[in-house]
Formats: sequence, structure tokens, C-alpha cells
Amino acid sequence: MSKVLYRTYRPKTFQEVSGQEHVVRTLQNQHASGSTAHAYLFTGPRGVGKTTTARLIAKLVNCLSPKKNEPCNTCDACVSIASGQALDVYEIDAASHTGVDNVRETVIDSVRFAPNVLKKKVYIIDEVHMLSTSAFNALLKTLEEPPEHVLFVLATTEIHKVPETIISRCQRFDFKRISSDELVERMKGIVKEEGVKVDEVVLREIARHSGGCARDAESLLGQVLALGEMEIGMKEASLVLPATQIVLVEAFVGSLKDHTAAQAITQLNEYLESGVDLRQFVSDTISWLRDRLLETVGGTQKEFSVSFLQTAIEELLATQRTRANEQLPQLPVELAVIKICGLDFQKQGVDSMHIDVIASHAKQSTDLEIASVAELPRNDENRIIFDTVPIISLEDVKNKWPEVYEQIKSCNTSLPLLMQSCEVCGIEGEHVELGFEYGLYVETINQEKNRRLIEGVFEQVLGKKLRVKAIQKKMKASEDETVGVLLQEFGGSLV
Ligand SMILES: [Zn+2]
Repeated sequence: MSKVLYRTYRPKTFQEVSGQEHVVRTLQNQHASGSTAHAYLFTGPRGVGKTTTARLIAKLVNCLSPKKNEPCNTCDACVSIASGQALDVYEIDAASHTGVDNVRETVIDSVRFAPNVLKKKVYIIDEVHMLSTSAFNALLKTLEEPPEHVLFVLATTEIHKVPETIISRCQRFDFKRISSDELVERMKGIVKEEGVKVDEVVLREIARHSGGCARDAESLLGQVLALGEMEIGMKEASLVLPATQIVLVEAFVGSLKDHTAAQAITQLNEYLESGVDLRQFVSDTISWLRDRLLETVGGTQKEFSVSFLQTAIEELLATQRTRANEQLPQLPVELAVIKICGLDFQKQGVDSMHIDVIASHAKQSTDLEIASVAELPRNDENRIIFDTVPIISLEDVKNKWPEVYEQIKSCNTSLPLLMQSCEVCGIEGEHVELGFEYGLYVETINQEKNRRLIEGVFEQVLGKKLRVKAIQKKMKASEDETVGVLLQEFGGSLV
């Protein structure tokens, strides 16, 4: 089933090739301008579309009626190449037993003769780095003076093993790993064609497991579809997905987030006893946290704060660099758990009484308090503190104001004018009050898009997520009078 899926949905046009726009566009442009090269070298990880693209070029240069620099997929040439029957398209796997001999015999001997049927003879040599020195030498001679009617596409996963003399005679394209998003998009298309409903979380999990390799992703998807269910969620998919640890990872991260270090450490040890591989678990956790971090930065997720995710990732990454302790391989991770949960701070004697003291001084907080509050575990018990103690001092904001202003100026034309008259009035928790003289300014700044822009700039310049609220500054006496008069005129109905 899985193999079928990979073949069935192999891209038939350049447009369908996922994640290699840079390669695809250049090849199509070359075709448009009649400057297709005689030899290409495709390098990159396995399963990212090198051979697929090679076949597409074979079709494009031979197609009898190409449209918009795409093969038509219906003419005799296209059909024969797609079915693998074309006499003039040679696919050689240099990694196979016969590959080396094939290059010498098939390529070198046949290359001089004109194509049998097609316009061009195309030689696709996969895993070209596996060729012997003598085969490379033979190939090199051909590449030095390639006949007009020949096109070479060499592909390799290990470019460093390909002789420089070969590389220099080819036009080189570097294929990239395919991003998770692109893999998910591609799988969505396949699933739709198959008429099956698969939860996005399953597709994401497959993409994560396949590490940017379309072939692996489609092979896994094939196994998931082979379950025969019409609707597939994580529960069904977990039957086939390779030892999916996502549930364990989520439970573990949940404990970290709640600052329950003891629970996280217990979980970790339970997992290890049940046979979970420590290294794999840590790297799965890091990868999971990274996904959440990207979502948080992109604004699609609010469950975890950037600072929590950042700390957790950094601490866990550090454990990977630590030399393993043979008796207690999990020790570095346990220490990381304690750090992430912020227990090191509590050890220094900050008990709940101390926290109360900080809270009572919240209004006149100093930098020192801001710093110590930042170290507090972010749990419900401490929430009151986070709401009142400014996460940054007024002083800091004022000092950085010129930079904030410059940044706003660089991304918006109308806001700077308003910001000139702005005054930072106060900070409470994460809320910053910006004072303006005119109600119109207040309204404009409080419009969501403007507010967000300013919040974004704050985060960039001050390194803190702040919430902005524009307020009208206190009027001067003379203005107060005017307001008073107006209010009287309206009979106090505005109050
Ligand atoms: Zn065609």
C-alpha cells in the first residue's frame, strides 16, 4: 500500500513538486529560454524529490506539446517516460550491483548514437557517488564533450564523495529537506484524493517523524490509510506510527509547565522503566517544544509562554551535550527538570511569605523586585504578583523609547506622528499605559492593528511581551474647565 501511494502521487508536473521551488523555477526558466544544460547534478537528502525532478526534466525536454514549461503528460513521449518504457531514458542506480558496469556499458557505449524515438537521450544516474574511479573517468570524458542529443541528470545524497571534476562539469542544484508545513499540505491533497478524513494532528505527527523526507512521509501515510478507517485520529494512527511518544511528551511538558518537578521526574523514570529510549524522548520533547514555540511566536498558541518554551528547550538541549552518566543516564535531564521548574530559586529561601512581601510592595517595585519576580514559578499561587508587579520598569521603557520610536517609524507612516506626543504613564503587570492628549489619538492607537504593531515593536526592542493601552492624559486646568462647561451644557448626561 505504502509503495503504491508514493508512486500514485508522484508529482506529474513541476508545480506539484513540494519544497524545491528554487530548483523547479530555474529549470522551467531555462526550458523557456532554451538554455537547458547538458548535465545537472542534484544533491540533497533522500526522498526530497531529486529523481522525481529528473524524470520531469526528461519529460519536459521530450514532450511533444509542453504547456507553460510543464510536460503535457498525454503525448507518446510523456506516457512512455512515465511508464518507464521509454527506450531513450536510462535510469541507473549506481548503488546497485550492476550500476557500475551499467555506467560503462550503457552510458559510454550508447551515448554517441542518436535517440531511437525521443528528442533527447536522458541518463539519470542515482547515487552517483557510488561509482568507481574508472566509471567516473569514463563518465567524465562524456561530460567533457556531451553530444547535442544527450542530457545527464546525476543525483547524490553525498556530494562530498563526487569528484570535483564531475561537479564542475554539471549544473548543480541543492535540494532541501521539505518543511513540515509543505509535507502536511501535500498529504492533505493525497488524503482528499483518497476520500479519507485524517486529523491534521496525525499529518503533523507523520511529518515530524519523516524529517523532511516526502518518501518517508508518504510511506507512513500509506500505512495509516491501510488501516482502512474512513476517519483517522491520533488514537487510530498510533497503531502504526513508530512508537509515538507524543502523549508521553505532552504529559511530561504539562508537569514542567505546572512547575511540578517531582511529578515530571517520576514520569520520566516511569517512561524509562517501560522501555522508552532516553535520548529519543529528550529529542522528541525538544522538537515538540520547538513546534509550540513557533506557534507561540506566530500567535496561534497561547498555552505556553515564549520564556517557558525557551528555557525548557535550552535546558534540555544542554543535557544532550552533557556526557552521559553510565549509572544514572537520566540525571542531567532530572537536573534540567528542576531548573525548568524554577526550584533552584525556591531553594534560595523564597517562601510564600517572601512572595507576599513582594506583592505588597508591588506598586513601588524596583528593578530588583522585577528581577526576582521574573524568577518565580509561574503558577496560580503567584498569579497575583504577576498581575501587579511590572514585568519591566518604567525607567527601562523610557530609556528605550527612542529605539521604540525608530522601529515604529520604520514600519508605519502615520503612527510616528501620534507617538511623538505619547507619554508612558504607567506599567502594571504586563500592561503599559500610553498617554495621549487627544481622544482621537487614543482611539487610533487602541485599534487592534496599531496596538499589535506597537506591542510587536515593544517585544522586539524590550524583549518583553507587553500589552498596550492608550489613555487620555490628564487635562490641564484650562482644559478641565472647558470640559466642565461642556458637561454642564449636556446636563451631565455624559457622566
Ligand atoms: Zn508530453
